[in-house]
Formats: sequence, C-alpha cells, structure tokens
Amino acid sequence: MNTTPIIENRIWQPAFECLPRPQLLALQAERLRAAVAHAAKVPFYKAQFDRLGITPEQIKSVDDVRRLPFTVKADLRSHYPLGFLAVPRSEVARYQGTSGTTGKPTWVAYTKSDVNNWSDLCARFLVSGGLRPDHTVQISFGFGLFTGGFGLHYGIERVGAAIIPLSSGNSERQLMCMQDMRPEILICTPSYALKLMDTILHEGVARDSIALEHAHFGGEPWTEDMRTRIETGLGIRCWNNYGLAEVQGPGVSGECAFRNGMHIQEDQFLFEVVNPETLEPVPEGEKGELVITPLCREAFPVLRYRTRDIGYLYSDGFCPCGRTTRRMSRILGRTDDMLIIRGVNVFPSQIETALMRIEAVAPHYMIEVSRPGAMDEVTVHIEIQPGMFSDSMREMQTIRDSITSAIQSITGLHMHVNLVGPNTLERFEGKSRRVKDSRKLVD
Ligand code: ADP
Ligand code: ZN
Repeated sequence: MNTTPIIENRIWQPAFECLPRPQLLALQAERLRAAVAHAAKVPFYKAQFDRLGITPEQIKSVDDVRRLPFTVKADLRSHYPLGFLAVPRSEVARYQGTSGTTGKPTWVAYTKSDVNNWSDLCARFLVSGGLRPDHTVQISFGFGLFTGGFGLHYGIERVGAAIIPLSSGNSERQLMCMQDMRPEILICTPSYALKLMDTILHEGVARDSIALEHAHFGGEPWTEDMRTRIETGLGIRCWNNYGLAEVQGPGVSGECAFRNGMHIQEDQFLFEVVNPETLEPVPEGEKGELVITPLCREAFPVLRYRTRDIGYLYSDGFCPCGRTTRRMSRILGRTDDMLIIRGVNVFPSQIETALMRIEAVAPHYMIEVSRPGAMDEVTVHIEIQPGMFSDSMREMQTIRDSITSAIQSITGLHMHVNLVGPNTLERFEGKSRRVKDSRKLVD
C-alpha cells in the first residue's frame, strides 16, 4: 500500500467519509431499509417484492441486500423512458442520460435533494485530488445528457472554485483557454487528455504558458501506465474517479491523496462484487462484476444494479488518509468490452498495459479483431513516438518483436502488430472506441 501522500491530505465530509466502521455499517443498513421501502413505489420492484415476499422490515444488516433482486440495463430499457421514477414529475429537478456506449441511451432523473447529494459526492473526490476554492477549472467533458459535465460542474461549484464550462471538442480552443485563462485543473476523459497532450507537445507549447496542476479523469477505463504517460507528458497529476448514470453519475468513488485505489462513497452506495456468470459473491479482493445499490436516491431508485464493470475491492486494511471507506481498483474493463480470442478472455486494458511499457510506443492504438478463416486474429495498430520511426527494417522489427512479446506475456496470446507513423490513428474527444471487432458482423 502507498503510505506517502502525493499531495496534502484533505477530506470534504469527514462526518461521512471517516465514520467508524460499525457506525458506517449501521447507517448503510438503515439507509438500505429506507431505500427498499422507497423502491416499492416503482411497480417493477413492487411486483418483485410481492412475488418474493420482501418487506423493508426484513432488512436488518447490509448482508440482507442479497435478498433483493438484481437490476440490469435491459430492465431500464424495458421500462423506458421513466418507469423507474419514484416521485411525481413535479419533484424532478434534472434529467440526464447514459452515454449510450452500448445502445440506446436511457434516462435518469434527480430530485433537488439528489442533485444536492451528488454535488457533495463530486466535491469529495475533487477536494481529495487537489481542488481548492481559489482554483480555476476547465471542464472539457461534454455538457448535456452525459452526467460528467454537469455532475462535476456542481461539485466544483460546491467547493467554491471557478468553472470554465468549455465542454469537449475543438482542441485549438481548449489549448487557447488553457493558455489565456490559465486553469489549474482540467476535467475530461483520459482519451481526450491524450489528444490535448498531442496538441500541446506537437505545437511546441511552452510548459510555463499553461498553469495546469491536476486533472480528474473518468468515464472510461485507463491504465496506470497511461497515467504515467500523461503525468510525465504534461507535468501534472492525474486522478481517477468513477461513476455511472444509472446509479448517479460521477462521484461514486474517487482517489484520495494516497492513491491507493478509489474510495467508495459507502455512506451512499452499497457495493457487491459478484461472479458475472453465477451472480454469487466472489471472495474478498478477487475481481468480478461490481453491483451497486445507491442508498439515498429519491427520483430514480435502483437496487443491486449490475454495472457490467469489472474490478475488485482492496482487502489490505485501511488507508492512511483517515477515511474508513473501502477502496476499489481501477475498472479493468466492462463485461461487454471483453474480447474472447480463441477462447481466451482479454480486456483491451491488458493490451494497453503491455503497449505502454514499450518506450518507443506512443499512447495511441487500435485493436482490430477478425476471423478470416476458422481462427480469431487480432491486429494491434500502434503509433510510434515521433522521432522513433526508422527506415531500418531491423529496428522496426525489434520494436515489433518487443511489443508482440509484451502482449503475449500479459494476455497469453499472439497478436499481429502493425506499426504506424505519428498522428495516423483516430483521436477521441469523449469516450474512446479503440476496438474494431468485425467478427460480430460475420456471425
Ligand atoms: P454508458 O454506460 O452509456 O457509457 P455512462 O456515461 O453513465 O454510460 O458511463 C458509465 C460507464 O463509464 C461506467 O459503467 C464505466 O464502464 C465507465 N467509467 C466511468 N468512470 C470510469 C473510470 N474511472 N474508469 C473506468 N471506467 C469508467
Ligand atoms: Zn485514502
């Protein structure tokens, strides 16, 4: 465990974040009971409670969450648009939506109190990752239905810092803003940070013409090696935060000054980690699908939401920051991103980890999966760092070989490697799409 703080250790709501564990568990149980009573206002849950004989009084401890039914994305879709609404529409203060990464977006709703809670939850991770009231923040997340833009906006406002709601897109304008307005904090997806970093490095922007100190990334999986690349490239600190619209949006968990995983805001979210096939809990510390029950949501309650995100909870005791909440790993991938190549399960993040270990490789890649004959084939297209592209066949072959073996040692699979020149592959302004799987079109 990391026991040296990266920055000053600050806590936004110690009354909740540092609750002694027995009190936290009692609070969770009490809130879970109330959440079950509230969810019964949603016909989908009422019908299941009646069928399974569930009553709120049966919820005596957090373990009783296992009596409750799971909720999956398809349930939200089959009750589209607002079948999960538990309050009259007159009490809704905001509607947002999922990004629709895996299909038609779904709507979510918030009461005034939901928005208020959400702001504090975002303030928690922002403050623990360096945000102060005197800072200026450039939000380069899309504003709109995506929960990232407005979620972070209200969290920053809660802390009292100044916001530049720039939204995503138009890298030239982003750079101009960084130079002219000199924000200390940047908010975006890690892929967009890569694109902005490209612009900054390629245009020879002097480091002292921008004032950036920290960036907060979320919205998509990224790796520790990618963090190192961006931190070194831009000379800033990058922080990870996690959330999803179905249970709120950003603010579900985030890193503290020690960066020992992301602290889960456990007073408001109950986490389980299950085997995605059997739906049984996995042993503590093992990876599985995260299942989340928000404990305080008024407008849009969901119970045991199966996120399809794969990760694990840390089991190495408490973090030196003083929070008593459990911590989660990075998201290793989504069950729907997982590639099955010749029977082997591979997450794109594993390939990213292999690539980022090779110095000559730039942080831009694309994974192409096909099945030209009977076997799956994977080709990884990778940009080479500017200046490393060589006319010498032998040098290029050496780089290719080291990439092939790095991929093989992490995934156990042989993949083809195609080296391409700088600035050839697609860049992303929001969530990246780095996998092209043509097998799905064939079978
Ligand atoms: P969609 O499911 O349509 O993308 P959202 O915009 O709500 O909807 O995105 C939430 C999803 O984004 C999460 O379920 C997760 O897969 C991904 N995500 C969010 N934050 C992170 C993060 N820090 N690391 C990895 N993945 C993340
Ligand atoms: Zn901590």
